[in-house]
Amino acid sequence: MTRVFNFGAGPATLPQEVLEQVQAELTDLHGTGISVTEMSHRDKGFMAIAQQAEADLRELMAIPSSYKTLFLQGGAQGQFAAVPLNLLDGKANADYINTGHWSKRAISEGGRYCKVNVAASSEASGFTTVPPQDQWILSPSAAYVHYTPNETIGGVEFPWIPETGDIPLVADMSSTILSRRVDVRRFGVIYAGAQKNIGPAGLTVVIVRDDLLGRARSEVPSVLNYKLQAEQGSMFNTPPTFAWYVAGLVLDWIKRKGGLTAMAEINKRKADKLYACIDASGGFYHSPVDPDCRSWMNVPFTLADGRLDSIFLEQAAAVGLVQLKGHRSVGGMRASMYNAMPEEGVDTLVQFMQQFSQKKG
Ligand SMILES: *Cc1c(COP(=O)(O)O)cnc(C)c1O
Repeated sequence: MTRVFNFGAGPATLPQEVLEQVQAELTDLHGTGISVTEMSHRDKGFMAIAQQAEADLRELMAIPSSYKTLFLQGGAQGQFAAVPLNLLDGKANADYINTGHWSKRAISEGGRYCKVNVAASSEASGFTTVPPQDQWILSPSAAYVHYTPNETIGGVEFPWIPETGDIPLVADMSSTILSRRVDVRRFGVIYAGAQKNIGPAGLTVVIVRDDLLGRARSEVPSVLNYKLQAEQGSMFNTPPTFAWYVAGLVLDWIKRKGGLTAMAEINKRKADKLYACIDASGGFYHSPVDPDCRSWMNVPFTLADGRLDSIFLEQAAAVGLVQLKGHRSVGGMRASMYNAMPEEGVDTLVQFMQQFSQKKG
């Protein structure tokens, strides 16, 4: 079997060791004679897996005891609705920061439940930067402030955490969670779909500060009710057991690799190498993103001659570099380099890009 380097934005590559462990345990989990996918979520074997995954997430992110961690379904976009439904608490409006595709989707879904005030936007730059905090117009009556720390499609990442005073800060961390250390205490709610940097699709991680529980509107679906799910250990309904199990293996893998400090070092090095290659190409490749907020995780870039796009993709695939096609809304290329992308994959990509530009430039 040959594995290729998969630069897809999500569902994304997983660590080889984790996949091999899943394979080895798939038909007989720890001598039980059954698969984890066949096990009751209330079984003590699964409960131990679930609790260990939660403990490892809390340890890796240094989540204070005043926060709950939830393992839910519904994806990040389920949270686009869950956030207003859980946090409005009788208020009529919320502030959103618009930095691109995923912020816009959050704004449009949020707008179904409350009056959305777009407190800042980088639309004028074509979403190639983040709006500096001194340009934000926050409303004192907002129930929360929502932003997207890393825009997965635009490749724009906040290099700083916004300051919102007493108003809870809510972050869609789907494509940046676990890529580096963050101070969880700065946030009211953090949520992330697992399929970028945590594990398989189907699992959504929510980290919520205790004082924000119990504000839910009565009509919030029970499966999305933070307080109810916190009280029931995320098992009000059947959780995504297989995805939770694999996420646990990924978290354990991150711990063995040195935790988030080590992840951040490697991720920064990978990103630096790829951006350096783009910037040194004499315009053959181009990154549209402001150098101050270039994402470590998702690197969109274009070829000066777009007619070469399909041949670039073909030749890259021929040397085992796949899923590099950019999002249809942006075009060009995009290399996603989550924790599980080995540095060797980025080195191989950089070498390929240099050779390609020499041949075609
Ligand atoms: C992928 C992604 C989403 C969408 O997640 P779903 O799990 O498909 O709902 C939302 N926000 C960001 C930042 C993403 O990267």
